[in-house]
Amino acid sequence: MPYAYDDQNIFAKILRGEIPKDTVLETEHSLAFRDINPQAPAHVLVIPKGPYVTFDHFALEASVEEIVDYTRTIGAVCKMMGVQPGEGGAGYRTLSNAGDDAVQEVPHLHVHILAGRPLGPMLLPARN
Ligand code: 5GP
Repeated sequence: MPYAYDDQNIFAKILRGEIPKDTVLETEHSLAFRDINPQAPAHVLVIPKGPYVTFDHFALEASVEEIVDYTRTIGAVCKMMGVQPGEGGAGYRTLSNAGDDAVQEVPHLHVHILAGRPLGPMLLPARN
C-alpha cells in the first residue's frame, strides 16, 4: 500500500511555522531542530521538508536533490555538534524509527542524532 502522508502531523506543523522549534540548521530541502524531549545531552532531529513518512519512503521516492541535501544536512549537523569521530569527536548515534514495531511517534521522516554521553547497546534486550 502506498504511503499516505498526514499533513496534520506535528513536524508538518513545525515546517509550516505553526509550532515553535529550536532550529539548528535549515537548508532548501531539510530542517534540523532540537528534540523537545532529549534522550541524550545533544539530541537533534533532521527532517526533509517534503512529505515523506519513513526513511524507505524517502529513499525510494525523493529526488536526487532532496536526498543529497538531506544527507549533507545530517553531516553538517554532526559537524556543528562536534561529534565526528574522525575529527576527534566522541561519536554519536543516528536512528530513524519507521512504523509500529519501531514505535514511530511522528509520521514524518526524521533522523535522530544523539550524542554527548555513552549511548549503550543499540537495542534493549527482547522481551518476548
Ligand atoms: P519517534 O518516536 O517518532 O522516532 O520520535 C519522535 C520524536 O519527536 C520524539 O523524540 C519526541 O520527543 C519528538 N517530538 C515530538 N513532538 C515534538 C515537538 O513538538 N517538537 C520537537 N522539537 N520535538 C518533538
